[in-house]
Amino acid sequence: MSFSQDAKTELCRVPLASRCCAEAELYGVLLYCNTFGAEEVKIVTEHRQFAARAEKLLKRAADLAPVFKSGGEGAAGSDKTKFTLSVTGPEKLKRLHQKYGYDAGRSLAHHINLAVIEEECCKAAFLRGALLAGGSITEPSKGYHLELATSHYNVSREVYSLLLDLGFKPRNTARNGNYVTYFKQSEAIEDLLTLLGAPVAAMRIMNAKVEKEISNKVNRRLNCDEANLDKMVNAAQEQLKAIRKLEEEGSFDSLSGKLKEAAMLRRDNPDLSLAQLAAMTRPAVTKSCLNHRLRKIMEIAYGNVEETKKQ
Ligand SMILES: [Zn+2]
Repeated sequence: MSFSQDAKTELCRVPLASRCCAEAELYGVLLYCNTFGAEEVKIVTEHRQFAARAEKLLKRAADLAPVFKSGGEGAAGSDKTKFTLSVTGPEKLKRLHQKYGYDAGRSLAHHINLAVIEEECCKAAFLRGALLAGGSITEPSKGYHLELATSHYNVSREVYSLLLDLGFKPRNTARNGNYVTYFKQSEAIEDLLTLLGAPVAAMRIMNAKVEKEISNKVNRRLNCDEANLDKMVNAAQEQLKAIRKLEEEGSFDSLSGKLKEAAMLRRDNPDLSLAQLAAMTRPAVTKSCLNHRLRKIMEIAYGNVEETKKQ
């Protein structure tokens, strides 16, 4: 099961308590489902629980028994079962349209009838229906994205305003003849899912975010360690080169006692860090003191022109 399907399963467990909310939720389903026309209402879904809930909503909110089919309508190549709920018959459809304040005689350019979603509880129920019928949510480990897609332009504009009223900041786009309202911020998606009745899904997004932060931190740390190691190895290589040059030129033995000690320590321990070499110096010196000595050796080897090597 995808994250989206799991979230919808959770939303389908929200009790159908009050009639006002059942009507509002059915309204959201109708405006975001496949067909809400004058001749037919058709809801097609691969989600078994949603299909069952839509059937219940039609019964409870509109006293309609849809024709329920499974299979058949499946997309070519898809092995998932599709469930189709359809309501036909002019009398029934007229009733349904009138219920939501539409004049079934005219062509239906749908707007949201705000009277249906006046109460706060009904606003959430309406959006739950819209999400169940026309929504999808991306797996949180892959990114944060929740969208609602409808074929009705005005409905999408009005849902956008409704979400603004509820304190959200959605975005709009159009895709394949659908009008899409979407969110990219994880907090907004969490808040919306919680409001609609899917706190477990919201929690999964929060957890995914924490996991991502931890693994980013670990990666940053590893990259940083690696960079430091590279720097250290490069510096040691430079020092070894200078020491070898002094040996070849025969000037190694003319180094002062302290510099000679530093050169020998570096030469004999090419892989050790500055701190380790500093600890081996007799008497032990600080890291920066040893660094100074090694730099001095490089200056001698390259005739004092090595300002650039000082970094
Ligand atoms: Zn309500």
